Amino acid sequence: MDIAERRQAIEPREISQVSDTHLRISWADEKVCDYDAARLRRACPCAQCVNEWTGERTLKPEVIPDEVEFKDVSIVGRYALNFRWSDGHETGIYSFQYLRDLCESGTERVSAH
Ligand SMILES: [Zn+2]
Repeated sequence: MDIAERRQAIEPREISQVSDTHLRISWADEKVCDYDAARLRRACPCAQCVNEWTGERTLKPEVIPDEVEFKDVSIVGRYALNFRWSDGHETGIYSFQYLRDLCESGTERVSAH
């Protein structure tokens, strides 16, 4: 495996929308991550939700209802996902790296049910 191939380990092998509120990504390195729609929506990295200059999150988590759903999931180029949400928001570009980081860092905040 050369360096170029190793870098691609962060790529998803399979992206499946399990339900309206549950997305699952199986990564090229075999790790499987489950994402809750409301949690992903609250982590939206777009300029409306995060101050571009300070990196401070301007989106208030409590304005996002727990029932928010995925309306559409699309791949942006070869590096990111874009979600269309049931609340009408659709400007967030979630890089694979960001999604992977959310998965790695989020275990203590996610309750399984
Ligand atoms: Zn946003």
